[in-house]
Amino acid sequence: MTVSDNLPWQVAEWEHLMAYVQQDRMPHALLVYGQQGLGKQYLVQRFANFLLCSADDKKNAACGHCPSCLLMQAHTHPDFYFLAPIEPSEIISIEQIRTLLQGLSLTSHFNLYRIIIVNQAHTMNVNAANAFLKYLEEPVERTLIVLITDQYKRLPATIVSRCQKLPVMRPAHNQVLSWLQLQKSDATVDDIKACLSLANNAPYMALTYLSDDTLSLRNACYKEWLAVAKQRQHPVIVAEQWVKLTKATLLAWMISWVIDMTKFYFTAQPLHLFNPDLNNSLQAFAKQLELKELIIFYDLLLISQQRMVTQINNQSIYEEILIAWFNLNSAQKHDS
Ligand SMILES: [Zn+2]
Repeated sequence: MTVSDNLPWQVAEWEHLMAYVQQDRMPHALLVYGQQGLGKQYLVQRFANFLLCSADDKKNAACGHCPSCLLMQAHTHPDFYFLAPIEPSEIISIEQIRTLLQGLSLTSHFNLYRIIIVNQAHTMNVNAANAFLKYLEEPVERTLIVLITDQYKRLPATIVSRCQKLPVMRPAHNQVLSWLQLQKSDATVDDIKACLSLANNAPYMALTYLSDDTLSLRNACYKEWLAVAKQRQHPVIVAEQWVKLTKATLLAWMISWVIDMTKFYFTAQPLHLFNPDLNNSLQAFAKQLELKELIIFYDLLLISQQRMVTQINNQSIYEEILIAWFNLNSAQKHDS
């Protein structure tokens, strides 16, 4: 797949962007937001390529071979700026913004557009956001700023209010299914479906899950979770192992397991499970546990999720969760 291909679920968003060009009403700043894993960065990158392409006859995509396109492919286009959080701090710092603004004080090289993409824009710290805001307040001609985020609410209102907004929508299940089958022809349909559900229908995330075999890791963690419930594994020992799994989104997985379980209290065959492949096992839990108790546990997971944003040591959080899970199950009669 090249960056000139339109993604099948982004047709409306692409038309929206193209209308800015056709009607000559390009905004100064654009905020592209939506759930993680929908290909927002791809959409914006494709649009940037298009705007910077210097071919006279371009229609719906960058030509791919003009001097400007070649510079984009080599990641050396002088009018294109890309900002993202730097590891390990995972924030966009004021130094990054300052360097960017210094570069922008020069005039554009190709006399087309200058494009600044800020990915994960919500990770700008307060100082960075303030410095950036000053720049947003003084529009520069033929300069487009695109902020991308999956956590819209974490952006300062002062920044949001200065941007035009473009929400990227989650696609229909079947549409993504066929796209994933094209991308991953070696994967089984069952695995594709399981990854897609796990990714909450976000195609790029599902593709990542398929590529790095997230399903096996998820299954291994689920097995340990079962072992804790059945008092076969010590919660503290499992917590110790889980902390080392940097790639696993364990808390999100546990939340999805619990949400799926609660669905069985209302119907024997829920239509939309996050984990359809764990159907039987999750249903068995629902038969054993009190809904009221499960909801208390669910609250603990949600609180833990907030705490994980600010707390560095996750081990104590996992311990607390797994001990609660252990106690919850030991209070019930569990068949093994
Ligand atoms: Zn071109």
